[in-house]
Amino acid sequence: MTFASDQVNSLPPYLFSVFYKKKKALEAQGVDVIDLGIGAPDLETPSFIIDRMTEEVRKPENHKYSPYSGIMEFKQAVASFYKRYHGVSLNPETEILTLIGSKEGLANVIRSVVNPGDGVLLPDPGYPVYQSAVHLAYGKTIPLPLNPADGYAPMYEKLSRDDLRKAKMMLLNYPGNPTGATAEYSTFSKALTFSEEHSLCLVHDAAYSLVTFGSYKAPSLLQVPGAKEQGLEFGSLSKSFNMTGWRIGYVAGNKDLIQAMSVIKSNTDTSQFIPIQQAGATALNSDLSTVRANNRTYEQRLENLLPVLKELNIEAEKPRGTFFVWAKVPKGYTSESFAEKLLTDAGVIVTPGHAFGVRGEGYFRISLCVPTDRLYEAVQRMKSLSWEVEG
Ligand SMILES: *Cc1c(COP(=O)(O)O)cnc(C)c1O
Repeated sequence: MTFASDQVNSLPPYLFSVFYKKKKALEAQGVDVIDLGIGAPDLETPSFIIDRMTEEVRKPENHKYSPYSGIMEFKQAVASFYKRYHGVSLNPETEILTLIGSKEGLANVIRSVVNPGDGVLLPDPGYPVYQSAVHLAYGKTIPLPLNPADGYAPMYEKLSRDDLRKAKMMLLNYPGNPTGATAEYSTFSKALTFSEEHSLCLVHDAAYSLVTFGSYKAPSLLQVPGAKEQGLEFGSLSKSFNMTGWRIGYVAGNKDLIQAMSVIKSNTDTSQFIPIQQAGATALNSDLSTVRANNRTYEQRLENLLPVLKELNIEAEKPRGTFFVWAKVPKGYTSESFAEKLLTDAGVIVTPGHAFGVRGEGYFRISLCVPTDRLYEAVQRMKSLSWEVEG
């Protein structure tokens, strides 16, 4: 007897769980598997954040429900972060909402906007969770092809008239998972103009906005004049402050959409635990030195990995953001056959590109979220493999 709904039963299979099973099977045989498929920091939450949490958790007044839209201290911290970092003014009362991680918010904004059958333009390649959220909201995914030859910028010209007629929303993600692609201000101003022309709600997932390298600084969609009329930007503390398990993020921008989302949230989750929001506020108000230290760690790992990929004739560009390397599979392989080979012959897990959409085929994603010595070990194992061309 199954009680699960049609929407749940028809969700595309989660590719990561297939790999997880193979990993467990190999480990049971005694193989030391190195998992470079991980999408979460291996580094610790900075101690000043933990200190704030432990201090606040002892206070009885913090054990109550949070206000539905989040506590003012956290929303104020988001507003002041935007002001300081992006020069953007936001009203914490009406233009910011606390989220239980940005994944929750992305699912809820889709539920807030999409009527059954409405189209949502999603980056291809892109984060698979978007597609599941659209499906669960009875929407229709319309792939928005990204151009690898142009820094994975959207190719709006590839969208058909029919796609544009159906579409109600467009989602972008820079620095992007899985490609590591970054945006310029012009990427967002073009996206906004396009959204205005086609009456699209424009949503930017900025989960990696602070995970950047060198002198690159990721712009915000909300810096573009008029962006608040058309859309929202989602932020997360998961990646920049190593807080994945804490579940804390935010959304900022259009006040009608924020209102619509808080209607849903007040009926489903009643916001996040107050001490977690307080700890999140402390993180956002910090001088971001821990974020810079993290980024240096990822950059060192990159410098360890990239020369080996080059030696192996695997094409990969150095990303300006995210903790992923997006690489081309060697000639003669598909994403799947190559990932399979790495797992069976080297005990190394990578994520095959087709897990991120049709345009991910021919690529694989390497995560930098493993301790440096493990990454080194993985790289040594890859070196000892030979890439026979399959017939
Ligand atoms: C990790 C990730 C998220 C989810 O972040 P949470 O705030 O932990 O829910 C959202 N978008 C992308 C692209 C991610 O990689």
